[in-house]
Amino acid sequence: MKSDWDVIVIGGGHAGTEAAAASARVGASTLLLTQKRATIGAMSCNPAIGGLGKGHLVREIDALGGVMGRAADLGGIQFRLLNRRKGPAVRGPRAQMDRRLYASAVQELLGGTEGLSILEGEVARLIVDAGVVVGVETLEGARLSCRAVVVATGTFLNGVMHVGHQRSPGGRVGDAAVTGFSDGLAGAGLRLGRLKTGTPARLDGRTIDWDRLEMQDGDADPVPFSMLTSAITRPQIRCGITRTTEETHRIIRANLERSAMYGGQIDSRGPRYCPSIEDKIVRFGDRDGHQVFLEPEGLDDPTVYPNGLSTSLPADAQEAMLRSIPGLERVELFRPGYAIEYDHVDPRGLRSSLEVEGARGLHLAGQINGTTGYEEAAAQGLVAGLNAARSAAGLEPVVFSRAESYIGVMIDDLVTRGITEPYRMFTSRAEFRLSLRADNADRRLTPRGIAWGLVDAERRSVFAARLAEIEACEARLRAISLTPTEAERAGIILNRDGRRRSLFEILAHPDVTFETVRNLCPELETVSDSVAEQIEIDAKYAVYLDRQHDDLERLRRDEQVALPEDLDYASLPGLSNEMRQKLAATRPQTLGQAGRIDGMTPAALTLVLAHVRKWGLRDVAATVAGI
Ligand code: FAD
Repeated sequence: MKSDWDVIVIGGGHAGTEAAAASARVGASTLLLTQKRATIGAMSCNPAIGGLGKGHLVREIDALGGVMGRAADLGGIQFRLLNRRKGPAVRGPRAQMDRRLYASAVQELLGGTEGLSILEGEVARLIVDAGVVVGVETLEGARLSCRAVVVATGTFLNGVMHVGHQRSPGGRVGDAAVTGFSDGLAGAGLRLGRLKTGTPARLDGRTIDWDRLEMQDGDADPVPFSMLTSAITRPQIRCGITRTTEETHRIIRANLERSAMYGGQIDSRGPRYCPSIEDKIVRFGDRDGHQVFLEPEGLDDPTVYPNGLSTSLPADAQEAMLRSIPGLERVELFRPGYAIEYDHVDPRGLRSSLEVEGARGLHLAGQINGTTGYEEAAAQGLVAGLNAARSAAGLEPVVFSRAESYIGVMIDDLVTRGITEPYRMFTSRAEFRLSLRADNADRRLTPRGIAWGLVDAERRSVFAARLAEIEACEARLRAISLTPTEAERAGIILNRDGRRRSLFEILAHPDVTFETVRNLCPELETVSDSVAEQIEIDAKYAVYLDRQHDDLERLRRDEQVALPEDLDYASLPGLSNEMRQKLAATRPQTLGQAGRIDGMTPAALTLVLAHVRKWGLRDVAATVAGI
């Protein structure tokens, strides 16, 4: 029977928009169904994209032809490369957004995506037939058939918002919660849990005393997120910086019992790395005050986001707390901050393709999988959308490895380890972070994106031109070599070992810049600044990457040992009961994933490997006997 659509994506947040765009880009007829068209691309919390670890994800999404990087370049009003003074591996591109410009850029980019339709509506339930998802039913009872689904419902499932002891149902302020849908997910065999997160009050910037604040500029030379953006042309703004005071802390302490999070209203887990101001005071004490960034939410919008003051105190206490902060003595609130609790699924019920085990064609992405953050959501959305389209076309899913991308690190963490609190990306989560840099995301992933059909002609040609320039430049630098004496004549001091070194090797030295080697090779005169920077980073990292090589090979080997889906861990001899239970709950797809389960020992892993080898041989013997 013909389906209405190849892929239906539920939810127009950061995961859903990226999923819908990816699915349509690879040629699937795709429908994005979302509660409100106007909130497509809405930022529920902070008006910023990128940051440490998160910026890497945005660059990876962009390398695969995604939406987020381009939209952020169009909506960005203050760009900053974080950790600029540290090594390139941990630098994080971040930009503050004009909230409206960002959402309208997302909507425009989706509108221009061939094969993608958008409908307003709430999905009430999934239609699953004999373990295969075949469609969705809306609240009004309309049934739409499809071959694959991506669920990207964010914080909306059974969402409850808290301001002090006041509770109200909602997916975020101004949007209704979705009730009933979670039951279908539980019916598909997924385990559900509750998580929480919070957001600060929104302030009227016209009532802030900006003259009393320290002001922070963005970078003078804003670096775009997207490979397709040649320059940021939008006017850039400044942010204010202030600090909480002793009086602020006194007010918070005096009202702790009235806070939803501390007064016993909420007991689900929240993001440890994005704590509320109540959390900060209870856990870290007064210190000498906690820093607060006052971030304008738009060029023509007086709303200001006080970054660092997420709270679920009652509105009157929020107002008093805010007015105790220098520069905010006269501040008026547009609306109070609030906490939200919502349903999420245990991501260990998913495969690395983000398909639900035991429900063919059903994929999950974003906050619903226990993550927090726009970038984490968008990156999962891209993978889920791509794999849903592939599933609809009868193709094998694609899986991202930890060795090639932060996307791979995140998904592997989610499906093998699960979560105990909302998961957010950090560079420290990646074991191969020297090679997984924000600056080389295109070279790591664009070729794969091209192979999967995710990348359009414009990006292919921009990428090819950049790659050709990098390769030609590196080849030139490798072709010219100097002895230590010759180098010294050019002002470069090397070990006096008589060994000739190529200019590329010489560039690896900490004191040598691209400009120094450019002076020795006139042909490099025309190399663009961005390629020069790239080559310098490559040269500086080359020696470390060689050292990382053996670890990478081991990971690749282990990832190639597939573990049978129906492996009966309960009957596997020699394993502890705890390990049997963990393996059975996680159902790792590869030996590599098994090795990353919490508490896994080398001995237990050897037992699993030995069993799989024996099992594999028996399987082959059975096949041969059957012929
Ligand atoms: P969302 O952006 O939530 O989008 C979900 C979309 O699905 C919405 O468009 C909704 O209308 C639609 N939808 C839901 N159910 C249905 C249905 N059944 N049918 C049709 N459409 C549906 N992140 C941080 O990194 N740090 C923070 O401090 C932080 N604080 C937050 C505070 C609050 C109060 C909230 C609400 C969120 C916060 N976030 C924070 C999280 C951030 O907003 C999310 O990580 C991100 O938006 C997740 O993207 P998503 O696409 O998964 O879901």
